[in-house]
Amino acid sequence: MSDIDAINNNKNMDEEQKKPEQADAAGSLVMQDKGELILRTEIVTRSVIRNMIREAFKAMEKAYAPYSHFYVGAALITLDEKIYTGCNIENASYGLTLCAEQTALMKAVSEGEREFAAIAIVGGKEKIVTDFCPPCGKCRQALREFVAPQSFIVILARTEEDYSLYSLDALLPLGFGPENLN
Ligand SMILES: [Zn+2]
Repeated sequence: MSDIDAINNNKNMDEEQKKPEQADAAGSLVMQDKGELILRTEIVTRSVIRNMIREAFKAMEKAYAPYSHFYVGAALITLDEKIYTGCNIENASYGLTLCAEQTALMKAVSEGEREFAAIAIVGGKEKIVTDFCPPCGKCRQALREFVAPQSFIVILARTEEDYSLYSLDALLPLGFGPENLN
């Protein structure tokens, strides 16, 4: 079982704990590959995850989706813990529609950010979130450009307590990245 699986399976654990700071320490992710420590991120704690989901919900409220009525919000966190949010922005010329994840990514990159730890995504018809809203293939590829796929975390949420974590590598196996051009 990977550490992400462990977090998924135990995400309600800290509801039983009295002190949130203890939960946060326990919630730090340590990801390993073939027994070798490849990343230890203390950024994506349970309280950070909740905060990111909250920010994604706020961003969803700003979505412009008069055609699909499917509203999406995303919150992207940098390695130095700055959060950039985005919403989907539709267009009467449908092909110009922007996804929430790409909006957040473009906002961050245009501010000079290049290193990211995780993204939280929420979405639903008429802003009612009943299920996870996975990123489309285009957004997975857009994120792939700037992140280490094995350590970047995609948080899919229904509520602040009901979420699942995935590595980008799990969502975009054998993705094409900048190193393929070398
Ligand atoms: Zn997308």
